[in-house]
This record gives sequence, C-alpha cells and structure tokens, in this order.
Amino acid sequence: MLVENLENINREIQLACQKSARSDDDVTMIAVTKSVGNETAKELAELGIENMAENRVDKLLAKKEALKNFSSIQWHLIGNLQRRKVKSIINEIDYFHALDSLKLAEEIQKRAEKQISCFVEVNITGEESKHGFKSDEVLDFIHQLAEFDRIKVVGLMTMAPLTASEQDLHGIFSRLTELRKAINNQHLSYAPCTELSMGMSNDFPIAIEEGATFVRIGTAIFRGA
Ligand SMILES: *Cc1c(COP(=O)(O)O)cnc(C)c1O
Repeated sequence: MLVENLENINREIQLACQKSARSDDDVTMIAVTKSVGNETAKELAELGIENMAENRVDKLLAKKEALKNFSSIQWHLIGNLQRRKVKSIINEIDYFHALDSLKLAEEIQKRAEKQISCFVEVNITGEESKHGFKSDEVLDFIHQLAEFDRIKVVGLMTMAPLTASEQDLHGIFSRLTELRKAINNQHLSYAPCTELSMGMSNDFPIAIEEGATFVRIGTAIFRGA
C-alpha cells in the first residue's frame, strides 16, 4: 500500500509540475509521519524516502533515534515550537517550518550551535485560530532577524484552511509566492527566501502549480496502509 500510495503521489507531483512548466527536481516531498509509528517510518526510509517531518518534538526525537541507521534522512519540524522545547530539538533538525514570533527567534539564536534553516510561517487568510504572521507583517519581522546569525530564512510556510475551494487555494498559494519573491528581491544574505513550504495531502497539486518547493504529506501516504 505504501509503495502504491507513494507512486500515486509522485505521479501527481509530476503532473502538477508539467502543468506549470516546472521541473520536478525543484519539488521535495516531505513525509509527515505524525500519524504512524517508528516501524512504518522505517519502511518509508527503506523505500528511499529521505525527508521526514513531525509536528511534535518528542515524536521527532523518537523517530530519529529509531531511524538512526538511515543517516541521509533530513529531519523537518513542522509544528509550533514552544520556547522551552527549543533547546532539546533545535540542534537535532535540518529544517524548522514554523518560525512565528520574535521571542521564538531569540530562543533559537541562543540555543542553536549552527545556522538553522527556517521557514517563516505566514497566516495568509488571517484566521484568528492560526499561527503565523499576517502577510503585511512578514517583511518587518524578517528585517528584525538581521542580527540573528543562527537563523537562515530559507523560505515561507503556510497552511491553507481545510475548507478552501480550489480557486481560494490558488489565490492563497499564489499570495505566498508573491511574498516570497518580494523578500527574495531584497537580497538579504540571511534571508535568501528561495523556498516555499506549502501543500498537504488534499491540496499539494495546487500548491505545486503555484510554486511550492516543499510539500508536506501525511494522510495520502498512509491511506489504506
Ligand atoms: C499533519 C500536517 C501535515 C500533513 O497533513 P496531511 O493532510 O496528513 O497530509 C502538513 N503540515 C503540517 C503543519 C501538519 O501538521
């Protein structure tokens, strides 16, 4: 089942790339393993999956320990990070996808032993229940990071509302793309902002059509497995 699901996802990624005249080399699928145990994550690693994500610190650490023989895996933390947990996780990951406050950036700056690749989380639709900066706050926030030599803003991340229509999704994802370009155009050494982390199981083809470079996929991989 895993193999079939992965093949289907790959095919959809390729289709979306063709549709938007992009190279599929520019899109990385991250397997979100939060709903499965260590054994299933290991199966994925054996199938050659090299990007894995968790949204909880303790679960990421447990998976990483269980998969320590697969040294080429890149670990992504995609969920909100509480400041008190920064110390235990920040030097264990390759990418952090949910930078959403200056206070959190300060804590990362204090605890990171090397530069950490971070995505700034953006709440495009401005829903109150969501984490992330509103679109018009992002640039100011990024300028505030100039002195933080342990933080590299590789890109922006967003989560679209589950209820959004296809048309809404195109709009949401293309707004993140525009914002990414505006930051990238400033040529800030600490914020190259070349990447876009957007698209989940139910909306990743649209996200890719609009410029996603990382898609975060859980459910679609494990369906029926
Ligand atoms: C769970 C989760 C995903 C994956 O969602 P699916 O719908 O299962 O593909 C992606 N991003 C974040 C931040 C998540 O928490």
